[in-house]
This record gives sequence, C-alpha cells and structure tokens, in this order.
Amino acid sequence: MSVDARRTRLLNNKSLGSGPVIYWISRDQRAHDNWALLYAIEKANEINQSVVVAFCLEKYPTSNLRQYDFMLRSLEETADTLKHNSIGFRLLIGDGDKQIPKLVSELKPSLIIVDFSPLKNARTKRQKVADNIDTQMTEVDAHNVVPAWIASDKQEFAAYTIRPKITNLLQEYLTDLPDLKAPSVEWSEKNDEVNVVEAIKELGIDESVKPVDWCKPGEAEAKASMQKFFQEKYDDYAEKRNDPTLDGLSNLSPYIHFGQLGPQRLAYDSSKLSVNEDSKKSFLEELIIRRELSENFCLYNPDYKTTKAFPDWAKISHEEHKNDKREYLYSLGELEQAKTHDDLWNAAQKQMTERGKMHGYMRMYWAKKILEWTPDIDKAMEYAIYLNDKYELDGRDPNGYTGIAWSIGGLHDRPWFERPIFGKIRYMNYNGAKNKFNIQKYINQNNQQNLL
Ligand SMILES: Cc1cc2nc3c(=O)[nH]c(=O)nc-3n(C[C@H](O)[C@H](O)[C@H](O)COP(=O)(O)OP(=O)(O)OC[C@H]3O[C@@H](n4cnc5c(N)ncnc54)[C@H](O)[C@@H]3O)c2cc1C
Repeated sequence: MSVDARRTRLLNNKSLGSGPVIYWISRDQRAHDNWALLYAIEKANEINQSVVVAFCLEKYPTSNLRQYDFMLRSLEETADTLKHNSIGFRLLIGDGDKQIPKLVSELKPSLIIVDFSPLKNARTKRQKVADNIDTQMTEVDAHNVVPAWIASDKQEFAAYTIRPKITNLLQEYLTDLPDLKAPSVEWSEKNDEVNVVEAIKELGIDESVKPVDWCKPGEAEAKASMQKFFQEKYDDYAEKRNDPTLDGLSNLSPYIHFGQLGPQRLAYDSSKLSVNEDSKKSFLEELIIRRELSENFCLYNPDYKTTKAFPDWAKISHEEHKNDKREYLYSLGELEQAKTHDDLWNAAQKQMTERGKMHGYMRMYWAKKILEWTPDIDKAMEYAIYLNDKYELDGRDPNGYTGIAWSIGGLHDRPWFERPIFGKIRYMNYNGAKNKFNIQKYINQNNQQNLL
C-alpha cells in the first residue's frame, strides 16, 4: 500500500537533490505505523537511495526530566528498530531550524520529509528550514486519521461541525497500516546511539520534575498498554470514563503525545473489536473527533494559547465580568504547590504533579477553578498552560491548549447561564462533582504515593 498523496504537502518548490532521503522525525517518534517514515522509504526506493532519520533534541521553557526521560528512552528503542531495518539515525542536539540545514549541507539529500504538527513553534521552524535550503521538503500528517488539512480548510466551530466532515472520510482513511520494510538501499554509515543520561545532561534540563513509573516509555510498551486497555477496560469505557476514582481511561495519551503510538493504529484496532457499542462510540469520538478538532483549532488559530482565540460571545461575557469580586485569589506558586482551600482541586493538582497525568474529568474542573481564582483571564490561561505543560506527561499538546481554551474561554462550547466571574462560560463546582463521584475517595487516592 503506498502513502496517500493527500497526506503529504510540499513545504517548498525546490528541486530534488541526489543523496539519501532525510526523514526529520519530530512529533511522530516511532518506527512502526508511521506514514512519514513509510513515505520516506517509498520515495527512497523510487530513486534508489537510502533513508536516514534525524531527530533534533530541543529544549523548551518547561522541559524537564519526566518528559525527556520518557521521550529519550523510547527513542533508544526506535533508533534500534531503524538500525535493524538498515535505516540511518542521527541524533542532533539543538533546534531543528539550525541543525537540519547543517545536516542538509553535509548529506546533500534528495529530499527531506518531516512529520506534521499544528503547533506554531514547530510549524515556524519547519517552514524556516524549507525556505532556507535548496532541496525539496514535504510534510506528512502521520498523527491524524484524516489529515488535518483534508478534514477541513478552516477553523471549525465545534465538534458538531467537524464530526460529519471527518466521519464521511473515515471509510477512506481509517485503514490498517503497512508493515515497516527496510528500504532497498541500505544506509551504510554508522548510526548515532541515544545515550539518555548524556543527552539530558548536555541539554541541562530541569531535573526537579521526576519521571513516573506507572507508564513505561516506548513503542512496545505503548502497544502492550493498548492491548491491556482492550482486554481490561474498553468494554466499560462509557460507564467508567467520567469517574476519576476509577482507572477507566486508556491512559494512552502520553504515548500518543510523543508519537510512540499512532492514533490511526489505535483507532483502527479499536474499531475492529467487538465490545459494548456505547464504549466503542465514545472512545472513537474522543480519539478521532475530539482529538482532531484540537488539531484543527491549533492549525487554523495561531492564538491558541491566548484569550484572543476565545469565541466572541465568551470575550464579551468575560469583559462584562472582569471586575467581579474574586473570593479567593492564588499565586502561581500557591497553585503549583496545591495550597488552595479546595481539597478536591488540590488532589487533582497533586495527581498531575506527582503522577504526571490528571484524570480527564478533573482537568475540566481544575482549569475552571483557575479561572475563578486568578485576577483575570489572561493570567488564568497563562497559569493553566504553564502547569499543564510542565507536569502532564501528555503536556505541550494541541489537546491541552484546546482543553484549556474550552474550560476557560468557552471554545467549541455554547453560552450557558450567567454566573459571577464565569459569565456565560460553562460552570463546574464542588457540589456538582460530589453528585457525580465519591470525591473523598479521589482525595484520599491522590494524597497517597503511587496513585491509582
Ligand atoms: C483543561 C484540560 C487540559 C487537557 N490537557 C491535555 C493535554 O495536555 N494533553 C492531552 O493529550 N489531552 C489533554 N486534555 C484532553 C483529555 O483530558 C486527555 O486527552 C485525556 O484525559 C487523556 O487520557 P486518556 O488517554 O486516558 O484518555 P482516553 O479517554 O482513554 O482517550 C483516548 C484518547 O482520546 C483523546 N482524547 C480523550 N479526551 C479528549 C479530549 N477531551 N479532547 C481531545 N482529545 C481527547 C486523547 O488522545 C486520548 O489519549 C485536556 C483536557 C482539558 C479539559
């Protein structure tokens, strides 16, 4: 099966060179089920060239040991798989927009393939490289079931507007993926090794946010976790997914975020199983529709991290309530250390800082309370994004920016009843949570180590 051309887009109009094909692997950090790698191999075989995969180890403001340890240990495995398939691997320390042009000068490749990300920083860097080199560069959407630019050419209003567009295309796109096959021409040079300890030291990242042990990194672990979810939890997903005291979710978001598990693999395999229909429907709704709606939002609205991205009705409503008295105001430090008057919120915050993954239901409550307890919506967005990106193993993801804009700014939602501070933004409170699940149980669970 060849890669669907609609999954690829040219980032420049430069001509083809004569050397190997470079795959700049960035977001989809896996060797299997990766359309970008499959495309690189397909192109290399057409022109009788070898393939080399290059990863740029970049540092971000909230980079920390928890996320980098998870990412690098998995990359070790991916590099190994590439080697066994006669594909080159280069580990470059530094930003892609500086490192890839250097590699291009060194290898004089035929073409460069990069995987797609809707995030601003990633897109800017990819485009900068494409503009500054003399070789053709193509991006491949290896992260979405329906490529983001095919699903829609504009920012969608809500789930109900993108759902029919994606659903109509699933018959074409929700397919199995071909196996990884070594390119016909072998990479003949020595591959770089991934030395996790050295790489972390070289980058000088924050080591205060510790790795977690409940979620083991790597493609093999990701697939094993997926199978475990299918066997033990999938059937009850609809019933249990909104109860934060139960371990009813797939817990696959860290793997998806780092590209260790391809969403299409998960979507295809889960769609084939015979389980409770409500569970299948709601899981695929989250995994495909909601996740790809987040991609759509970040792709078409570059202000996704700010209040500028809120819908007009929410901006007006926030303006009308900006001077409402806040009963509680907390600094970023107080929030970070879970020192609020609300034991439920503190438990959620601890679940995130210690476990590295807050339950999905609590993420909404958590972000909405930040709106209630900060002086203005700009601060609320800033604090929520900072904490989410720093502590969540799946942070720095389109889903995070979208979930926060949904909670604080009414994105993809509708106006609700008027309330102090929230205005028309959907409200959540302690008593509402109390009616939904055993909050004391959740608090107790998260006040202990080795949670859930
Ligand atoms: C304030 C807030 C912050 C969030 N931050 C993040 C984040 O940083 N990273 C992140 O991946 N998700 C984020 N989400 C979305 C969602 O909460 C998580 O994707 C989900 O809890 C991950 O757990 P899981 O894989 O066990 O979920 P499951 O319920 O098992 O879902 C499977 C997959 O479906 C997708 N999915 C599930 N729920 C959503 C959703 N509401 N929106 C979009 N896609 C979804 C995810 O890819 C998830 O891994 C956030 C939501 C909110 C409200």
